[in-house]
Amino acid sequence: MLVNGKWEGPIVDQHMHLDKSNKFLGAVEEFSKSGGTGIFLVHKPSFSTTLPKNIGDYREVYKETVRMASLVREKIGLDVQVVLGPHPVTWDIQANTIGVDESTELHISAVGLALDMIEEGDAICLGEVGRPHYKVSDDRWERANDMLLDIMRMASSSGSPIQLHVEDNGHQTCMELAAMCDKAGLPRRRAVRHFASSDISDKNTSGLPVTISMGKGSIEGICSTMGLSKSNWGMETDFLDDPKRPGAVLGPKTIPKRTNQLCQALKSLEWEDEKIEQFILNIHEKWISSTYF
Ligand SMILES: [Zn+2]
Repeated sequence: MLVNGKWEGPIVDQHMHLDKSNKFLGAVEEFSKSGGTGIFLVHKPSFSTTLPKNIGDYREVYKETVRMASLVREKIGLDVQVVLGPHPVTWDIQANTIGVDESTELHISAVGLALDMIEEGDAICLGEVGRPHYKVSDDRWERANDMLLDIMRMASSSGSPIQLHVEDNGHQTCMELAAMCDKAGLPRRRAVRHFASSDISDKNTSGLPVTISMGKGSIEGICSTMGLSKSNWGMETDFLDDPKRPGAVLGPKTIPKRTNQLCQALKSLEWEDEKIEQFILNIHEKWISSTYF
């Protein structure tokens, strides 16, 4: 599937958000025209307007994400996997207004609802769940971790994979998450750390699958650590489709572009075409199946 050095096969962005009031279909059209074939559409909380106040509100916003996925399949012809769940930042913001107990209760119900919808086939993965990526008080941090452990237990009993939104504290972060997975009975291979660095060595990932934020320098990072990695990994933009931050985190054309750059980088390491093809198929197909299905 390498044609004159260009990759013609599956290209999946494993963490993308879309907003009906912003670029929405235009963004995925750009992705598709650049060679993209599939996305993981991750539910996006409306931080700028109102956050869900009860489980009924959550049902509405989850359903909206599911409807958006159908539209993308129908209008753009992409393969779309839906990721549903309450965002950890929502929990922290709401803890400041309704109190941490009530916010936790709402959050856990929203996890339950997402898992029900996954079981019904509306979505494939729970996410993004996790803990605040910025500094919070010690007490809040402890509560966030207790809650995350509960969430992992729930995912484990319903047999669902999760996408994790967490802080970036070097290899320490995945080491802690992996220990929590073990404690919760959630297989590490089902807990995907999103917004990961391109250091895919097992020392850095503790055996968790990661989706790499494919910014500048990511290809070099992958090439220098891929020999030290035994777990699944993939690529993401975390495109936000936010009018206030156009093109953030990375734009919709990024993954097709980086996939081709990776092919070229491997070629310059004197890999045979067939070996490159197998490797790219792992990233955009095989590892995805073994992580999420
Ligand atoms: Zn995200």
